[in-house]
Amino acid sequence: MPKPVVDMNKCTGCGTCASVCPVGVFEIKEGKAHVVKPEECIGCRACETQCPTGAIKVVE
Ligand code: SF4
Ligand code: SF4
Repeated sequence: MPKPVVDMNKCTGCGTCASVCPVGVFEIKEGKAHVVKPEECIGCRACETQCPTGAIKVVE
């Protein structure tokens, strides 16, 4: 099962991941991206590709 892992030290809370994820895996809370629905991840890697700071890695 794929799931995204966020490096909190790199995350700026920009919200791009929450916008591009087609299944609502992320929520921005207190200025950081949180993985709130990891079970929904389909492994499309849109978040990993589009995060401007490279904070997301999608792991299997
Ligand atoms: S796209 Fe990257 S920097 Fe922006 S909120 Fe998501 S993890 Fe953080
Ligand atoms: S890999 Fe795709 S489905 Fe999974 S969290 Fe990232 S954008 Fe969402």
